[in-house]
Amino acid sequence: LSKRMKRSIEKNIQKSTLTNENIAETLKEIRLALLEADVSVDVVKELISRIKTKAEGGYIQEGVKAHQQMVKLVHDELIEILGKELAPLDLGKKPTVIMMVGLQGSGKTTTANKLANLVRKKNSKNPLLVGLDIYRPGAIDQLVELGHQSNIPVFEKGKQDPIKTAKQAIEYANQNNHDVVILDTAGRLQIDKDLMNELNELRKQTNPSEILLVVDGMIGQEIINVTNEFNRLLKLTGVIVTKLDGDARGGATLSISHMTKLPIKFIGEGEGIKALAPFYPKRMADRLLGMGDIETLYEKAIENIDERSIQKTMKRMFMGQYDMEDLRNQLVQVAKMDNLGGILKMLGGQNKVNEDQINDAQRKLVVFSILMDSMTLKERRDPRLLKGLTRKSRIIKGSGRNEKEFNELVNSFEKGKKQVMEMTKMMKSGKMPNFPG
Ligand code: GDP
Ligand code: MG
Repeated sequence: LSKRMKRSIEKNIQKSTLTNENIAETLKEIRLALLEADVSVDVVKELISRIKTKAEGGYIQEGVKAHQQMVKLVHDELIEILGKELAPLDLGKKPTVIMMVGLQGSGKTTTANKLANLVRKKNSKNPLLVGLDIYRPGAIDQLVELGHQSNIPVFEKGKQDPIKTAKQAIEYANQNNHDVVILDTAGRLQIDKDLMNELNELRKQTNPSEILLVVDGMIGQEIINVTNEFNRLLKLTGVIVTKLDGDARGGATLSISHMTKLPIKFIGEGEGIKALAPFYPKRMADRLLGMGDIETLYEKAIENIDERSIQKTMKRMFMGQYDMEDLRNQLVQVAKMDNLGGILKMLGGQNKVNEDQINDAQRKLVVFSILMDSMTLKERRDPRLLKGLTRKSRIIKGSGRNEKEFNELVNSFEKGKKQVMEMTKMMKSGKMPNFPG
């Protein structure tokens, strides 16, 4: 979906003219963009007809900033469908039982662990994970391993009847002060009667506060049928859409919201434990409109970045002073951002950044930092000193790196410095450089 919708609006509805023709042309492109993002046909139809009625009915005033009004109109309609507000978890009961359900491979086990980590961190809860997938080989081990990594206890009884295990787990939780119990249930490739009976029985016996369907956001139109079926049989309290990693696609959320009216509570954006975000309708609308999920991105970055240190570096750059100490400070800031891969992907947009590139960038970051740590401040402030062979071999030896890596660092620095100098020259002469994107 990317930036396409927004661009087409801007292209078709020039700053001051608004005609029925260019509204129609714009709507055609929005329609295509939505379909491409896997939003279901019915949702697209309704959305387009609502926008059309308003646009032609005088909602948009011809004249100044007509295109901005159009963007706002589309944005508002998207939010209307996505639901106005954040849907929080119901954590009132003690213990709160949360049942994770969904097809095989949708991300239940991974998400159960992420969710446990999230309620522990954000809601100060003491969660217990419960392994109930006795069918898929290795499924319980997977949960145990994840729990081990994140230091969250996992209750499991091997291949014992899942309903019995779940009841024991709740008892155990009561005795051990676990106030949230997350049941990781089994899935099948398709909806299957036996499994549904089991899940239903589990529901009756454990009385969960939340029954959350975990769906893979990349499965396409099928997502509506799956959600409706699970809802019909189990009465879901919410949905978690996974695998929306920094990808512009998010159309699945729009389809689910519109077709099932179930609240989307979280979205999964990666395999790591932190890659679970509350679902903010406004942010998703931004993302669908191609404004990029700027707020989320900003929040992630700002959590860790030291604003003052960046300003200091910027100021030094502007004064034409850029040395290795500045480079080192920058790398420290970058390294502090967690989920660097996710951020690179999000920024990448259409120009896909692949795993290899991310790994390579992360590796270089580490190697460069190690090398610079082995320099003296004087050397970093005056990188010309690095040409001295004794210094060079001392640094290489001290850091345990090799000459090739050392040269790579020096070259990267020279190249970076040149770019910085050109940029400041342009800024000083009043011409802004053209940033890509
Ligand atoms: P389950 O069968 O429903 O329990 O699914 P799993 O939790 O085992 O997940 C299946 C696969 O999807 C695993 O490789 C997960 O790492 C992966 N996965 C789950 N959620 C996400 C997500 O949000 N993004 C990405 N990229 N992968 C995910
Ligand atoms: Mg599983």
